[in-house]
Parts: sequence; structure tokens; C-alpha cells
Amino acid sequence: MRKNIVAGNWKMNKTLQEGIALAKEIKASLSGKTPKCEVIVGTPFIHLASVCEELKDSVIAVAAENCADKPSGAYTGEVSAAMVASTGAKYCIIGHSERRTYYGETYEILRLKVRLALENGLRPIFCIGETKDERQAGRQNDVVQAQLEGSVFDLAADEFGKIVLAYEPVWAIGTGLTATSDQAQEMHAFIRSLITKKYGKELSEDTSILYGGSCNPSNAKELFAKPDVDGGLIGGASLKAGDFVAIIDSF
Ligand code: PEP
Repeated sequence: MRKNIVAGNWKMNKTLQEGIALAKEIKASLSGKTPKCEVIVGTPFIHLASVCEELKDSVIAVAAENCADKPSGAYTGEVSAAMVASTGAKYCIIGHSERRTYYGETYEILRLKVRLALENGLRPIFCIGETKDERQAGRQNDVVQAQLEGSVFDLAADEFGKIVLAYEPVWAIGTGLTATSDQAQEMHAFIRSLITKKYGKELSEDTSILYGGSCNPSNAKELFAKPDVDGGLIGGASLKAGDFVAIIDSF
């Protein structure tokens, strides 16, 4: 049975001290509660070890926002999946549209990152989604299908089973424009149908598919009520403990 998940993505925000303070605040807000979903915070690399330490006895898991496409070696400034795993992080966001757009991450680069994350025991949170132009041209299904086929659909079933997918329409990220719950449901059902064709019904029913794109405490409940929306990947609203916890409480 698939899990509901609310995952934060802090992006390039918060100094180390601010990040630790935010992690503490989220932990305090959830203490004594049993969230009805898995809770993950995705932090910049330099925060990972400290945030993992801060959250080690809590219900909150930690994700990196990226990892290198090489296992180790002379790649100045890069951070490997093995290094991420050594901090105690359990997840790694891969394929965020900001990485695809600003850092030229291709299907093949992302394919390598997904494999390295899995080899190092990390669960990828693999992001897919179309741009505004692609949606206006009615190409959203083709785009999402190509992103899956280009980077994750050649995984063996047991490896694919470790992946969490996040559907994030690029036009909704950080813009305040949210996909309607019907648009999200339609795409999530399409994604699940592709997984069924590729890996069979059981695995597709077990795959968590998160929605991301201006999700906030006011719209989360309606989005999460849709049968194929298994939670959210939250950017801006994950930077305030109160908003992030309110989204978690939407379940
Ligand atoms: C994201 O970047 O993953 C995201 C969903 O951002 P926001 O919630 O700010 O739109």
C-alpha cells in the first residue's frame, strides 16, 4: 500500500543556523502528534548532517535536493550520493525543473543520478512536469512520459519500487498558480497508467505520486483528497514551520 508523503524542498534558502532552527521548530510542532503521512525535509547539502542529527529521534526524514552524476573523484564542488547517504539522509530529490532548466540536467544525467542514489541506499524523489508552453500546446502527457522513459523506466521493478514521483507542472512552481485538483488528478492518473503498463498494477498502486507547485495550507486538503494524489512536494510553504505543519495536517 503506497504511503502519503509531505516533503519540503528548501531550495537555496536558509543559512545553516536558520535551517537548524527551522528543523527544530518543525520537530517541536509535530512532537506528540502522529502525522497521517510520512514527513520529509529537503535541505541544501551543507545542512544535511546537522539537520539529520537534529531530527534523528523524530518522525521526520531528511532529503538532499540533488546529488552528483558521478560516484566520486575529481569533480570539484560536486556532492556524491554516497556523501549524502553518509549524513543520514534517506531521500534525494532528483530532476527538479530548476535543475533541468538552470543546470542543463538531461534525461541521461538524471538517469545516472537516480542509479547512484539507489546504489547508495537513497530513495529518489524524481520530479517531472511540463512547462506552460507545453501545456498550452496540449503536450503535457507526452512530456511527462518522455521524462519517465528517459530516466527511470529502464529500472528493474524492485529498483523502481523505491522511487517516489513528484508531478510538478513548471508553470505552478513558485508562481502562486496551482494546478486545479482535477488537473492534478488527471495527470497523476495518467502517470499511474504508464507505471501500470510498464511494471504492472501492483507496483503502480504502490507508487507514491506527489503534487508540487504552489501547494499551501489553503489548497492542500483539496489536492490531497484526490485518489491519485499521495501528498505534496512543497517549496515556498516549507520554509515556515506553521505552513508546512498545516499542510501535513491536511491529511
Ligand atoms: C518546488 O520547487 O518543488 C515547489 C513545489 O515549489 P513551490 O511550492 O514554491 O511552488
